[in-house]
Amino acid sequence: MKVAGYKLDLDPTVNELSERGYSLIGLHLPEGLKRYAKDIASCLEKSTRATIVIASDPCYGACDLADESFFSLGIEASVEVGHAAIPYLTQKIPTFFVNATPTIDVCPVIGKAIRYLEGKRIGLVTTYQWAEKLGSIKKLLREEGLFPLTSKGDKRISSEGLVLGCNVSAAKRIEREVSSFLFIGEGDFHPVALLLSLDKPLIQADPISNRVRKEELIKLKEKIIKQRYQAVDQAKDAETYGVLVSTKKGQQRIKLARELKEKIGSHGKKAYIFMADELRPDKFDYLKGIDCLVSTCCPRVAIDDFLSYKLPIITPVELEMALGERKLERYKLDELI
Ligand code: SF4
Repeated sequence: MKVAGYKLDLDPTVNELSERGYSLIGLHLPEGLKRYAKDIASCLEKSTRATIVIASDPCYGACDLADESFFSLGIEASVEVGHAAIPYLTQKIPTFFVNATPTIDVCPVIGKAIRYLEGKRIGLVTTYQWAEKLGSIKKLLREEGLFPLTSKGDKRISSEGLVLGCNVSAAKRIEREVSSFLFIGEGDFHPVALLLSLDKPLIQADPISNRVRKEELIKLKEKIIKQRYQAVDQAKDAETYGVLVSTKKGQQRIKLARELKEKIGSHGKKAYIFMADELRPDKFDYLKGIDCLVSTCCPRVAIDDFLSYKLPIITPVELEMALGERKLERYKLDELI
């Protein structure tokens, strides 16, 4: 089916769901498709004759599946739309992943991006939505005399060339072999992760806005690194830390949180561990006597929401900098593996 410029390949999932005869199915959609929940649910309901329950909580991505909530209601199977599976995560109920691929033609923006690329060997990276288009993008680049390269990434990554905001292993694995990277996708979320992890030039081709960014990304990197060092500076004076752990399946790092608490203790400082499903700045407004937060959750919480928190919020890597255990020269993204 097609909704709002996206193609949802529901047929294989519908066939499987019907064959297995489920009567109660959960549907979990990314924020951008929630408006069309009714249409997608109707399509599933009609084809499977099952009752569909739509999850309304925010959906942050591959790390944030709804299977456990569905399971608690006795729902038999889950349909996750718009994000890839994290291969090593297990689910409480059978879970079917359906991609939502934009129908827009990527050729115009790739054509525009070519003159910004550096060198002949180009690393290609993208998000799940555009992953299906990588084959045609490679073909286009080869026709221009370029050598596009992709990598599969580490065990958190389900397909070739795919990057997450918390994991850019698919880029890092080929960094030595390429002269520059081309990222296909929208927004700052994924480019920021790439910028903080790579030394090679990054060019962003956004098929939705038909825009190419290169210089702007260099400025963005400088701005974020400056902000992160400010946060590290503020954290240096902290005496008491709050270490944050998420209960989201793909973000759980309790072992790391305990190690950090111990590490902080070994510097003669104090730490408390706080747990939450979703981290929001207002959740920690009540805290008294905590000087700094250390987020072990999605690394983007500290980076993207930094200005919304009343307390300085840093990543585990930045904590090591603040405690003097890691050199400040080379900034490192806190990646989830
Ligand atoms: S941890 Fe953050 S960046 Fe990683 S998949 Fe989840 S929401 Fe995306």
